[in-house]
Amino acid sequence: MTLQERDKKHLWHPLKQHQLNPDSLAIVKAKGCLLTDENGNEYIDAIASWYTCMFGHCNDYIINKVYKQMQQLDQVMFSDFTHQPAIELSEKLIAILPEGQAKIFFNDNGSTAVEAAIKMALQYYFNNDEKRSTFIAFENGFHGDTFGAMGVSGLSVYNGPFEDLLIEVKRIPVPDGSNHDVILSKLKSISEECKVAGFIYEPLVQGAAGMKIHDANGLNEVLKFCKANSILTIADEVMTGFGKTGRHFASDYIDTKPDIICLSKALTAGLVPMAITSCSQNIYDAFLSNDIAKGFFHCHTYSGNPIACVAAIASIELLTSKETQDNIQRITESHTVFNIRIKNHPKVKSTRQLGVIFALDLDTNMQRYGSLRDQLLKFFMDRGVFLRPLGNTIYIQVPYVITNAQLEKVYATIEAALEIV
Ligand SMILES: *Cc1c(COP(=O)(O)O)cnc(C)c1O
Repeated sequence: MTLQERDKKHLWHPLKQHQLNPDSLAIVKAKGCLLTDENGNEYIDAIASWYTCMFGHCNDYIINKVYKQMQQLDQVMFSDFTHQPAIELSEKLIAILPEGQAKIFFNDNGSTAVEAAIKMALQYYFNNDEKRSTFIAFENGFHGDTFGAMGVSGLSVYNGPFEDLLIEVKRIPVPDGSNHDVILSKLKSISEECKVAGFIYEPLVQGAAGMKIHDANGLNEVLKFCKANSILTIADEVMTGFGKTGRHFASDYIDTKPDIICLSKALTAGLVPMAITSCSQNIYDAFLSNDIAKGFFHCHTYSGNPIACVAAIASIELLTSKETQDNIQRITESHTVFNIRIKNHPKVKSTRQLGVIFALDLDTNMQRYGSLRDQLLKFFMDRGVFLRPLGNTIYIQVPYVITNAQLEKVYATIEAALEIV
């Protein structure tokens, strides 16, 4: 029996209607930008396995460091204990995070990083004897699948059955450069009517919405309003973090810096799961008290796992290397040239780019998980390129180590796909 056949007996996959879509491709190997399936077919991983493996799969530099750590200290509770990898990671991360971040709190994944951020914001006000429980978020934002994270997410395809059970969230449109007055008047009325604890946002790029890019000045105005009204700002950089936008963090493009930042995905370069919620000194200080209950009693068993910390340290070393920065520059320039080549194609409605993120919208109506989308996915896979369209959006987010030849193959495959839609 093939792996694909055996899979069906006991496994339940995420984001899948198994009745309509029973097969899952069995991947047996990943190296650099290439995935290999059980039949020996190779695919260029043009979305870096959900924006994680930015330094290439099974990166030798990261693997070697992790292997050494595995022989030294595998896991220890992070409640009561500490260790060198966590300390070193906190130092390395604070050094590159946007200004104002002072403390690092560990989680397991992007959703729980958001969950911790939401609880931090709520308890910040609770500890200050103020009750604030509403959040503001962008329309069509995505922040994860646990309850708090789902609540602040605005993509209702995922939230339908749970809507009545979610925290109170008020939504504002993303800034498009011309809707500033609309957004500001909405912010004013929300903050007058509700006790707003925080504003959560994906800075500059809304990933799950289809790599939608919004206006940096407009976002800065929203953040300025929040600061002026004591609304804590939470930058969800789970997707945008670690170089994807051309800067280390998308928040680096924006003058007003967040109070809290959520990180995951490329944090550990796809090797092991981990996430971080970082915050300013001011937030941390609100949890200091002689009253034990004012501490942050939130914990995951694998908090600060030493192996994951070492993967993150190695990733930051790679990110800040000249080689990676040159690669980010190279891919950014390559995307810009591709954009000129493709943006006027009759099947292309619009294109957008920031750093190594490139997206185009097809000029056709498509369901997020409909049959045309499945056809496109198959078209790409049959040609050895793993791209995963979202609705009518085709987007690229390649690992930084991709070669020019591989990148050209990705572009050519997209161009060929335009002829079939
Ligand atoms: C992927 C993602 C999450 C959720 O992360 P998980 O690790 O899948 O739980 C949260 N926020 C953003 C912006 C994301 O892209």
